[in-house]
Amino acid sequence: MTDLHALYRDLHQHPELSLREFRTAGVLADALRPLGFDVTTGVGGTGVVGVLRNGDGPVVMLRADIDALPVEEKTGLPYASTRRATNADGEEVPVAHACGHDMHATCLIGAAEQLAGARAEWSGTLLVVFQPAEELGCGARNMVEDGLFERFGKPDVVLAQHVGPLPAGMIAHGSGPVMAASDSLRVTLFGRGGHGSAPEIAVDPVLMAAHVVVRLQGIVAREISPSERAVVTVGRLQAGTKENVIPETAEIGVNIRTFNENTRGIVRAAVERVVRAEAAASGAPREPEFEWHDSTPVLVSDPDATARTVAAFTERFGQERLIPGALVNSSEDVGVFGAAAGVPTVFWFFGGVDFSAWEPGKAVAMNHSPEFAPDLEPTLTTGVDALVAAARTWLRSAF
Ligand code: ZN
Ligand code: ZN
Repeated sequence: MTDLHALYRDLHQHPELSLREFRTAGVLADALRPLGFDVTTGVGGTGVVGVLRNGDGPVVMLRADIDALPVEEKTGLPYASTRRATNADGEEVPVAHACGHDMHATCLIGAAEQLAGARAEWSGTLLVVFQPAEELGCGARNMVEDGLFERFGKPDVVLAQHVGPLPAGMIAHGSGPVMAASDSLRVTLFGRGGHGSAPEIAVDPVLMAAHVVVRLQGIVAREISPSERAVVTVGRLQAGTKENVIPETAEIGVNIRTFNENTRGIVRAAVERVVRAEAAASGAPREPEFEWHDSTPVLVSDPDATARTVAAFTERFGQERLIPGALVNSSEDVGVFGAAAGVPTVFWFFGGVDFSAWEPGKAVAMNHSPEFAPDLEPTLTTGVDALVAAARTWLRSAF
């Protein structure tokens, strides 16, 4: 039997940034091989694929993401990460599994082991996928473009889960759209540099950027129906080097979240319109530049397939351990697999927080926070059990 606690602690102590999950991929491949899976590494970069063929029946894909974040862990756990790494811009950054992908990967090894051990009870094919670079929104697409389904077979269903700030031991499930589409944008605004004392002969990109930031907040408030949902956040604003120098340019990083293509199109177009208009209003000598990047589509948990899977959860866990999931504004690229294969995706959340010492008003660490770390148990066992129950719903029963 794999020591899942040891595996989790090992992954947690050795987090790796998106697209650089080399050690993680090796550890997971080594854990999967002895279970009887045909294992291939290097799929779509650092992805790992395991195939277990067990007679006729459906092909069931189980997916876990494996990348970590540039976050300094402050959980105080004995197995907290102290790692640092170089990011894509060549800067040294701290690295931690602040989104719990180490938990997802460990749960998937645990589920693969249980399902392989019970192979007399089912038939079909298990397609186990460890996906890199979820945090960049490109890992799933990279694996699909590397021939995932041509090389390893097309699944009949894609099953995946995410740990979150819910009570440990609980499963939360939505149906239809469950997580937002995310689009990121780099904007460069052009002014004319000059002396801080002589603004009349310069065009100030700092003031231009300030107007843009404020004006962008009018999009959700005034252009989107109150019955729709959208977020526009300016998370980055950079300009200048010195108080008395008017710089040449200013840069803004914008992130938008939406839940359908119509709203997404309206918000994207409105952001560009506002930026162009503010540049024109400021007398910019050049049109602004736009670079859209890191796009993730809305994640839809197929209603019929979700109902079938949730029925299995109800049987396995009891109604008291299930909670209807709320729509969340964060994003996930797992839907790319189901969309590319033309099959349903089922996605659920499982809790990672021990609420026994919680008091009203006390903050709970969210994913991506330096304090985020799931309670090892019952989180891990719940995640393994959920994957096994979900997979068994779709595999053909031998009885
Ligand atoms: Zn995340
Ligand atoms: Zn995540």
